[in-house]
Amino acid sequence: MLNNTIKHIPKKHRFAIGALMAIMLVLFLLPSEEVKASRNIKVMQLEPGVKYELSIPDIASKVELDDTFFEADDYISHKVKRGDTLASIFKKHKLSAQTTYKVSKAGDDAKQLRRIKPGDMLYLHIDEAGQLTSLQYPLTNTETLQIALSDNQYISSVTTKNVEKIVAFGQGTIKSSFWHAGIEAGLSDNQIMELAGIFGWDIDFAQEIRNGDSFNLAYEELFVDGEFIGFGDIVAAEFVNQGDTFTAIQYTDGNYYTPEGRSMRKSFLRAPINFKYYVSSNFNPKRFHPVQKRIKPHRGVDYAAPIGTPVVASGDGKVIEAGYNRFNGNYVFIQHGEKYTTKYLHFKRKAVKKGQWVKQGQTIGYLGRSGMVTGAHLHYEFLVNGVHRNPRTVELPKAKPIKASEKDEFLLLARKQQDLLNNNKRIMLAMQ
Ligand SMILES: [Zn+2]
Repeated sequence: MLNNTIKHIPKKHRFAIGALMAIMLVLFLLPSEEVKASRNIKVMQLEPGVKYELSIPDIASKVELDDTFFEADDYISHKVKRGDTLASIFKKHKLSAQTTYKVSKAGDDAKQLRRIKPGDMLYLHIDEAGQLTSLQYPLTNTETLQIALSDNQYISSVTTKNVEKIVAFGQGTIKSSFWHAGIEAGLSDNQIMELAGIFGWDIDFAQEIRNGDSFNLAYEELFVDGEFIGFGDIVAAEFVNQGDTFTAIQYTDGNYYTPEGRSMRKSFLRAPINFKYYVSSNFNPKRFHPVQKRIKPHRGVDYAAPIGTPVVASGDGKVIEAGYNRFNGNYVFIQHGEKYTTKYLHFKRKAVKKGQWVKQGQTIGYLGRSGMVTGAHLHYEFLVNGVHRNPRTVELPKAKPIKASEKDEFLLLARKQQDLLNNNKRIMLAMQ
């Protein structure tokens, strides 16, 4: 029966179930003490702060939906074609002009029917007397406009379906690039970017990713009526970068925190390169040696990347210089509060002006080879009270912790999510 159910589950979902089965297997293999602890982990529909039990029958039931709006069998379905209007569709199904009029005046929600477009579906229920008793018009994956006949009047409403969430896992070890490892782990492009985004304050995705680095994450998959409609949030993730482990847990506020409750978000990004562009361009920095001869003592970090790669402000601040000279090429300096200054040199083109306020992550220019350079790169400097520091290792201001009143709840969640990640690791090991 289970097998039969699984066949009807979308492929991604099936994989998740495979993983869950493996969890069950591992639970059986673990010493009893640990089984006890692990059984309390959240797996199904993982909503931070809410309890779920892990069991196979639960998963199977997720594909049989309880809250369908209507039995599609009782309805005539009409796929909207180019040039179709409500009137022409109704006419085709032998409904009167008066019905068309009444339906179109069935309240505010009914106005949506003016916006039908090719490919949309309309479902009509017509009784034996040829009277339209109900119309269903799915607006999105989760919302449907309903028009129902009641006391010789049409009434419109929009109903929203439940989105079912299940948690799936991904894990990978970097062999050639983070991007490849992500794809191999079954992640979507967006998820790979999100993962990099979560750790972008701690890890320099532009230049510090090494072979052997690994990641492990739990993420939501969204289902409506048993159909996979897309990925939800990453709910917990771990990234091991050159031996350092970083863990992020999503809390109910949607933000990510360390297991101790410190925000992942910090005043400065680890690298001022738009990691999205960088990661997806699959660029290998080892192939580039942009600066062979250094004219003066090197007081910054060089980022080699394709010309045109967006360079971003590593923190919120004010542009105190945006200019050109023959050494720096096109350059931008940003002041962050009293203490910190960041400098960005050799742009192909600047994207900000002197005096402008910029936000962390905002593009301030595009990587180039202007000024005294031997190859395209970004030269980045980080100054604390006017003294040059290594931006990769400098001690940065401590991030804001989670509210004291919510700390206990968060810590509980964090522990469970970490259990989840650890279980995933064991499964993957067992599968190897
Ligand atoms: Zn440099």
